[in-house]
Amino acid sequence: RFISLEGGEGVGKSTQLTALAEALQGRGLQLLVTREPGGSPGAEAIRKLLLEGEDTRWNPRAEALLFAAARADHVEKTILPALERGEWVLSDRFLDSSLAYQGEAGGLGIEAVRALHRFGSSDFLPDRTLVLVLDEAEGAVRARARDGNLGDRIGSRPPSYHAAVDAGFRAIATNEPDRVKLIDASGPPATVTARLLYALGDLLP
Ligand code: C5P
Repeated sequence: RFISLEGGEGVGKSTQLTALAEALQGRGLQLLVTREPGGSPGAEAIRKLLLEGEDTRWNPRAEALLFAAARADHVEKTILPALERGEWVLSDRFLDSSLAYQGEAGGLGIEAVRALHRFGSSDFLPDRTLVLVLDEAEGAVRARARDGNLGDRIGSRPPSYHAAVDAGFRAIATNEPDRVKLIDASGPPATVTARLLYALGDLLP
């Protein structure tokens, strides 16, 4: 099975990724944990191009193409081989980040970014996508509180951008309710992890 974990800034995604991975491994699953942008040597090289330097480095269309290119390599070189070996794959971000960030917040449109994914990765999708959501104010506080190495990139974006990312994720969940589940990220970390596991309940052995 292929699971992706998504969320805007400050929702506790990194903490939950680790906790969810441990919970799944605790159930005896062979699990490959990977991330986007990145997850294969080629895609990690593209990650550097995307995340180093100014937020304004790339033209938005070029940026969306780079994310799609990284994903195409990640899918073919890392994700599909693991699934063929019978492993589970958990990815820290996947297509839906591009739909929300580049598509919705970046103004290219969700459909345009989805078209890049059709070309790059034959529209390959996770079996389940878990999107951590917080009310906006709480997310902003947590984002400021954390010591993120991508702080400059986050800080250079206006609040309206983050609101659009959030709206993008919510729109995707409405359009694909079976695949994409919104998970309340408020409360103690262990409670949030339990919500994530519950949302995978029908897939777990
Ligand atoms: O939160 P995470 O460590 O996954 O951060 C990656 C950074 O890249 C975040 O600042 C996020 O906003 C950004 N990003 C993006 N578009 C994507 C995926 C991530 O702008 N498709």
